[in-house]
Amino acid sequence: MTPIRLAIVGLGKIARDQHLGAIEATDGIDLVAVASRNASLENVACFADIHELLASGVEIDAVSLCTPPQGRFEQAKAALEAGKHVMLEKPPGATLSEVFALETLAREKGLSLFATWHSRAAAAVEPARALMAERTLKSVSVEWKEDVRHWHPSQAWIWEPGGLGVFDPGINALSIVTRIMPETFHLVRSELTFPANRAAPIAASLAFETKSGLPVAAELDWRQTGPQTWDIRVETEEGTIVLTHGGSRLIVDGEAQIVEEDREYRNLYRDFVALVTKGDSDTDFSPLVHVADAFMLGRRIETEAFED
Ligand code: NAP
Repeated sequence: MTPIRLAIVGLGKIARDQHLGAIEATDGIDLVAVASRNASLENVACFADIHELLASGVEIDAVSLCTPPQGRFEQAKAALEAGKHVMLEKPPGATLSEVFALETLAREKGLSLFATWHSRAAAAVEPARALMAERTLKSVSVEWKEDVRHWHPSQAWIWEPGGLGVFDPGINALSIVTRIMPETFHLVRSELTFPANRAAPIAASLAFETKSGLPVAAELDWRQTGPQTWDIRVETEEGTIVLTHGGSRLIVDGEAQIVEEDREYRNLYRDFVALVTKGDSDTDFSPLVHVADAFMLGRRIETEAFED
């Protein structure tokens, strides 16, 4: 098969940290262009934005959108209308209605749309899912606490409407929980803490319930300095299952398990190649649905102003 000719849109932190290397390491896909207002790359065609790229005549089959969620819809729509397959960074968009519109557009055009969740591709996720399917669950609790100043220095978009604030990392936890849980769950309580000068929350405390009544709790906080916490703890009748380090390590009944080397983004590009080859899409928006619910049901608490 001829390799998919790919363009990256938005050459920022995640594109450089993960996408470039993962594309390089994946068979069946080649990077041929970049569209970014303030960045360029050697040895590929470079454009200021997706519209310039699509008008240029440079032949591409697909785009990978690594821009912030606000504005992603216009880029994805332009790409699909031009007949290109689309891979979306998480979160897949700024609103639910826009991502459902993209899903419909991709279907109408017969193109692949891949709403990626990189944390779902972490090494401990599938082993945890298999184990949870065999056990009797009692409760699930998520603790996702990191230092925003360290991980998101001067990312203005993240604090703007649609940037999601603490849900930008928190949605990664929800993407794992929605994958490993053997039954669906829904939100019953949400408290969101907003800095006085920001449009997005710096912390969130959420309580969910599964269909059968099991509690699922999530504490998200961006004010944690020192050791960082990205843990999911599952209490079962048979013992405790803990995913740590963002889903890359697994501890079962107190014993660290051997899990494979982390290949999150290589897994995503391998899956994208398979989707395009088969003419399929993968559009599970459930993590974004839970985040939208958290805003809808959220009690707002104001805290001190946040400065970078
Ligand atoms: P970033 O460093 O701000 O990079 C995004 C790039 O998109 C910018 O460098 C910018 O490049 C371009 N862009 C286009 N329109 C923009 C706008 N209106 N405002 C700001 N930038 C704009 O952000 P990132 O951390 O890479 O995050 C991008 C996406 O990846 C987000 O959805 C995020 O949740 C996701 N993600 C990030 C990480 C991480 O560790 N940072 C991890 C996983 C997923 P030009 O100025 O050159 O156009």
